[in-house]
Amino acid sequence: MSNYHINEKGFYGKFGGAYIPEMLYPNVEELKQSYLSIMQDPSFQEEFQQLLKDYVGRPSPLYFAKRLSEKYNTKIYLKREDLNHTGAHKVNNTIGQILVAKKLGKKRIIAETGAGQHGVATATVCALMGIECIVYMGEIDIARQAPNVARMKMLGAKVIPATSGSKTLKDATNEAIRDWINNPVDTHYIIGSVVGPHPYPDMVARFQSIISEEMKWQLQEQEGRENPDYVIACVGGGSNAAGAFYHFLDDTSVNLIAAEAAGKGVNSGESAATSALGKDGIIHGSRTLLMQTNDGQIIEPYSISAGLDYPGVGPMHAHLFESERADFVSVTDDEAMAAGLTLCQLEGIIPAIESSHALAVLEQRKFDSEDIVVINLSGRGDKDLNTYINYFNL
Ligand SMILES: *Cc1c(COP(=O)(O)O)cnc(C)c1O
Repeated sequence: MSNYHINEKGFYGKFGGAYIPEMLYPNVEELKQSYLSIMQDPSFQEEFQQLLKDYVGRPSPLYFAKRLSEKYNTKIYLKREDLNHTGAHKVNNTIGQILVAKKLGKKRIIAETGAGQHGVATATVCALMGIECIVYMGEIDIARQAPNVARMKMLGAKVIPATSGSKTLKDATNEAIRDWINNPVDTHYIIGSVVGPHPYPDMVARFQSIISEEMKWQLQEQEGRENPDYVIACVGGGSNAAGAFYHFLDDTSVNLIAAEAAGKGVNSGESAATSALGKDGIIHGSRTLLMQTNDGQIIEPYSISAGLDYPGVGPMHAHLFESERADFVSVTDDEAMAAGLTLCQLEGIIPAIESSHALAVLEQRKFDSEDIVVINLSGRGDKDLNTYINYFNL
């Protein structure tokens, strides 16, 4: 049987690993040696589960979307990660990692952020635990994501601008890595998706796997069977998709569909469709698929959705793509925006634009009337209101 999980060396097939500068080795090695035993410790699990319940508000509902189902003549369920505290799935991971950091005796947290969603989720859990928080963010992103910068500041985090290169996410990541090298003993680096050197992709996937763990018993309750026919999720770095797919990976009767942001069109030069356009390479410490020029320079991604605007994809997804375990679908800005509006008007739910990419798959694929299709609604649309206003001239 094929293996869709990580192997002992930290690889998914040929993707993954830990391609890091020598000076980062002790930090990553400490985490690699301890993350599984920490996560399996009963006292860790007790605190993690308690916080997911009372602080995040889990389990998130699995909602049968009746009117959406009628429109597409199939059975559609929405996994409501949009109802989590802070408005998306990202907090599942930051709660987990802050508890790991505490167990390792760390006193200081650093993070990188692009649009600011992961920065806010990190600042939130640092406030919760009373731990110092430093968030690196590109200077350009600071200017265009002012509300999230304000949120982080209110939550007590220090936001440090990255002023080199393109002044966006990849430069913020470089600054965070530099900080970690300089503060190896007291600092933990909270990465926001299933990316980065091993063990991050596996650790983050495990924290997000609560999503598919809940889906299984919720489907059993509502449909009398644990497995859906399809699970659909959007992919930026890939953490909400990894969580939604996790407990179905080995069961090939469950079809997995990953929606990637095609921006203004896959071949428009303004896109973030990593699997369609990506080539084998190394980014942020792992071997994966990424958008690059022939001589290996990273191509700046584009998507109307800030959270999908990443030039690579986590190594698990590179492997799911290459092994054809998951079906990768490209969704343009226009298709996503239309699908988001459809959800608003049929179900009274305003989705994050990232999640609208997953919803747009309903227009591209045909499902049978008896199929059970679960769509991971990764986040709510409040943060995207300005983009919706400008796009629809509201
Ligand atoms: C950040 C974000 C994403 C993309 O990140 P993944 O790691 O691919 O899940 C998707 N949806 C929402 C709502 C987000 O905030």
